[in-house]
Amino acid sequence: MPQFLDTTSPDFEPAFVALLNAKREDSPDVDATVAEIIADVRARGDAAVIELTAKFDRLDLTPAQLAFTPDEIAEAIDAVSPQDRAALELAAERIRSYHVRQMPEDAQWTDPDGATLGWRFSPVSAAGLYVPGGLASYPSSVLMNAVPAKVAGVGRLAVTVPTPDGQVNPLVLLAAHIAGVDEIYRIGGAQAIAALAYGTGTIAPVDKITGPGNAFVAAAKRRVFGKVGIDMIAGPSEILVIADADNDPDWIALDLLSQAEHDESAQSLLITDDAGFGRAVADAVDKRLRTLERTAIAGASWRDYGAIITVRDLDQAAELSNRIAPEHLELCVADPAALAEKTIHAGAIFLGQWTPEAIGDYVGGPNHVLPTARSARFSSGLSVMDFLKRTTLAQMTPQALRAIGPSAERLAQSESLQAHGLSVRARLDSLNRPPI
Ligand code: NAD
Repeated sequence: MPQFLDTTSPDFEPAFVALLNAKREDSPDVDATVAEIIADVRARGDAAVIELTAKFDRLDLTPAQLAFTPDEIAEAIDAVSPQDRAALELAAERIRSYHVRQMPEDAQWTDPDGATLGWRFSPVSAAGLYVPGGLASYPSSVLMNAVPAKVAGVGRLAVTVPTPDGQVNPLVLLAAHIAGVDEIYRIGGAQAIAALAYGTGTIAPVDKITGPGNAFVAAAKRRVFGKVGIDMIAGPSEILVIADADNDPDWIALDLLSQAEHDESAQSLLITDDAGFGRAVADAVDKRLRTLERTAIAGASWRDYGAIITVRDLDQAAELSNRIAPEHLELCVADPAALAEKTIHAGAIFLGQWTPEAIGDYVGGPNHVLPTARSARFSSGLSVMDFLKRTTLAQMTPQALRAIGPSAERLAQSESLQAHGLSVRARLDSLNRPPI
């Protein structure tokens, strides 16, 4: 059974705070292992990656076998059914057309002092996309990482995906092919992150690494940050559904279970202004759990981290939602747009009862790599911006330097940075010198 909370109860606040602070990630002491793996890959390159792949994924490779060959990719793609291919192509196209609209504008203007100023966005040269593959495989995550990178104009895209016992989902390779990925390596874990960050004899280093993964992947991303950029640390999934009584309890139950089935550490929450409806949803979840294939995982998540919260009204629902800052937020209420204006801290919002969160996982268009563990308070889902950098531009004319240069010189003097001041003064003096 999930927890039942009621905002009118005197125990509500401590119970809600405990829910917010529930530590859902297994935190085994992986960091020491990861540090060793990274050091080993830096020192021994391909040889270390090959040994670690044999150890963790039970797969023996030569350096030449680290990357999938074009023939292997073509063969895997041929095995995909036309229906699966069409679904993946639809997803790719919708994700592409959404992310094209995210492209920011460059800017340039000349101010009244005569200084021309601006900024320019340019893509990173090479990105490494981590696709998890230890316990399940995620073709949709290939698209969610690779399509925005391609839209941003990244020159080289390298995917790493672990293939335990040599097994790979052909749809992962097809998704990479559709998105225009350049290289696919059959490696995973911290060794893959280290290889992408530092390079090996076979794998050229990248500039930015994106994508979700398990605790080893997350720890490795933290450790290589600085050598390369990273997107975020995306943890176990979460959903918050705010629903009034005018919903089918079974639909809401399925929406809650759609995140619970990801991971035993996932969290599914329902906020409703009708206690009876909350109980009906709990019953519907129990019924569905009897037949779901991933019932063990979904059941554990729902039992340990699920909750149904009864609120006074939807304004109070919005207040609690902002404190939770969920990764996914579904608004199944009569006026979802009005409620969305009040729910400002969320990774992704799904408005109305015809928008199950699963649409966003695959084909809606917005990205499904989203901030978890309340980090939606200060961060956003993956976007083209993750693959772009902004360079500022400034050009002075003699007139502009005359106007603003003396202030720069003065500030340089106040910081005791003599060469700074003199670099401006030399130019100002040349402007003040009478022509010969
Ligand atoms: P994974 O690819 O992240 O990890 C597999 C690798 O872990 C192996 O190749 C191995 O190298 C390494 N590893 C395993 N045990 C190890 C050990 N004892 N020591 C050192 N390294 C070890 O795949 P996974 O394990 O299936 O995890 C995927 C994770 O990604 C899940 O937690 C899932 O919820 C998450 N996920 C998140 C999103 C998102 O958008 N937030 C999307 C998809 C998946």
